Amino acid sequence: MLTANITSKCNSTEPINVPAQLMDTHLRVVKALGKAPCEREWQMRNNYRADRDIIRSILKSGYNYGFTCASGLACFIDADFKEIQDALDHFTLTFRYSSGRLGHYQYVYFIDDEPLHENIPLVQGAYVKTKGGFVVGPGSIHLETGRTYGLEIRDIPIAIVKKADLMKVLQPFRKRLQPKSTNKAQPHQQPVLGTLRLEDMINLSGFRQSGSRFQGSHPIHGSESGTNFTVDVVNNQWHCFRCDSGGGPLQWVAVCEGIIDCSQSVPGALRGMVFWEVVAAAHNHYALTYEKAAEILGGRNEQQ
Ligand SMILES: [Zn+2]
Repeated sequence: MLTANITSKCNSTEPINVPAQLMDTHLRVVKALGKAPCEREWQMRNNYRADRDIIRSILKSGYNYGFTCASGLACFIDADFKEIQDALDHFTLTFRYSSGRLGHYQYVYFIDDEPLHENIPLVQGAYVKTKGGFVVGPGSIHLETGRTYGLEIRDIPIAIVKKADLMKVLQPFRKRLQPKSTNKAQPHQQPVLGTLRLEDMINLSGFRQSGSRFQGSHPIHGSESGTNFTVDVVNNQWHCFRCDSGGGPLQWVAVCEGIIDCSQSVPGALRGMVFWEVVAAAHNHYALTYEKAAEILGGRNEQQ
């Protein structure tokens, strides 16, 4: 088991020196607000050469920045928990940097044989980000914790790996999609790509059904009566009777992710930075595709 950790810690009052490892042609710089890209068509056109001056000027103007992997021959792994970090370290030591939450790291790899074609959701919020994906870069600020990304850097080269070898390491952490319990009547109906449906996000198996309405216990703060929460799967809306609050899928993401309290989920709750945080969470942890996220970001449409 490899245990060598070559770690450099920066003083948080100094500006972060963006690691040389990330100044690579496989990686493209994207301007961001909070955890989400903030320029339209950032995957296709509005991304920039990985260059320290470009990054510094973005940070200086008060924005965050991050990376996307244009070729698919590189990837970032949001390794948010110890077991996955141990598995990756055991596989091969590579460059990594700390993210905005304590104990969370971005692992970076180059792939030298075959490009990755998709971003892969893993368990417990971990994720493989490649072509079309986005990760926040060192020197950016985490809005909720105030912590700077990249305070801890493992200052070694980015490992070059084979796609199949990396996939083998990640296999135990692949997210298995939950079978749907509510949509049995129309087994051949394809969901609209990128559209968040509440019935895919909330386990309704113990709920009482009346038409399109499901009633049960609030999945986050619970219920004394067992009936304080309803989901309408046709209107794609939820309601909490205890807090007299509710909304659509984005509001549900906000409550689940702890971005707002259930009681705060009233019309107009998703504004400003909160809105960006929610969209980022929805495309990092839920089925919101990058295309749909970009559409929402472009239109700033709270209704999703
Ligand atoms: Zn509530």
